[in-house]
Amino acid sequence: LRILGIETSCDETAAAVVERDAEGVPTVRSDVVLSQLEEHSAYGGVVPEIAARAHVEALDTLIDEALKRANVSLSDIDAIAATSGPGLIGGLLVGLMTGKAIAKASGKPLYAVNHLEGHALTARLTDGLSFPYLMLLVSGGHTQLILVRGVGEYERWGTTIDDALGEAFDKTAKLLSLPYPGGPAVERAAKSGNPQRFKFPRPLVGEAKLNFSFSGLKTAVRQAATEIAPLTDQDVADICASFQDAVSRTLKDRIGRGLERFKALYPDVEQPALVVAGGVAANLVVRGTLQALCDKNRFRFVAPPLHLCTDNAVMIAWAGLERMATGVAPDDLDVQPRSRWPLDSSAETLLGFGK
Ligand code: ATP
Ligand code: MG
Ligand code: FE
Repeated sequence: LRILGIETSCDETAAAVVERDAEGVPTVRSDVVLSQLEEHSAYGGVVPEIAARAHVEALDTLIDEALKRANVSLSDIDAIAATSGPGLIGGLLVGLMTGKAIAKASGKPLYAVNHLEGHALTARLTDGLSFPYLMLLVSGGHTQLILVRGVGEYERWGTTIDDALGEAFDKTAKLLSLPYPGGPAVERAAKSGNPQRFKFPRPLVGEAKLNFSFSGLKTAVRQAATEIAPLTDQDVADICASFQDAVSRTLKDRIGRGLERFKALYPDVEQPALVVAGGVAANLVVRGTLQALCDKNRFRFVAPPLHLCTDNAVMIAWAGLERMATGVAPDDLDVQPRSRWPLDSSAETLLGFGK
């Protein structure tokens, strides 16, 4: 089976061709990503209208490029998979309508893929993981701990009740006049900082529910920065290091509880695994924290290569292939994009928000 994947939910336009053989072994035939970082950097964040326009301008060419690099034409493709949520509605419309148009014109089936499902199943492509496993998604738009039980079977154990972790990094950077995107800048500055200088809050630590909250942390950063302004480079470094320390301790508590819950639920799983995804997975302090936590709890720590942790079309294509292989019917061509679309559809009603 061979599928064309399309991703346009945020600030990356991406197309990819991926195959899966009868044994389930994947081959990535092409993987094309165009990041809109430059378009948005002047604004310190993703501007939805600019993102949608950039997707319109780039997507056709990117799809051609993905087919060319894979050395196939549309007639060699068995299906199309396009992200249809969650994300910015303008971008989703561009990608999903393009997917529909190709499906209609070629008579091939269309899979409307949940972006989060793409992240959730990536570790099966990169590391051949078997179900069940735990997945932590930490990106600019999401912070979620998800139990992955099977294709289409997800349970959301925790989510952020305010800011996403990547968003907290970005906002902290902005407060400190560091460049966008904030994550890498904060990590860089933190290297020469003292993580003990500021005692920033560790929201929700100790709570039985596995949710996250990062907006209070950002407020504490603002207060500290205002109190000691004007900031020297050392002050900035110390704030960044202390911020990362608070993040680490929060993750340690929240995810630690998640690992324990997993073990209690699946005592017979021989090698339980925690997968990390999203741009914040690039952060070495975060990685180190999760690795140590996994070592301590005898979990395998799986961090797919960074270009497959951040937004890409390979994961969307792969999610489509996994659905095909599981016998899930393709979507009707009147399927609509959804800006909010929790993986675990009971979660929205349970918690009252869709982030
Ligand atoms: P979505 O949330 O829809 O998946 P996104 O574009 O917001 O998409 P990614 O592209 O996966 O998410 O990740 C971007 C985020 O990752 C940004 O918030 C960025 O600051 C953060 N990030 C990138 N590198 C680092 C790093 N080294 N340390 C911390 N955060 C980082
Ligand atoms: Mg992105
Ligand atoms: Fe993403």
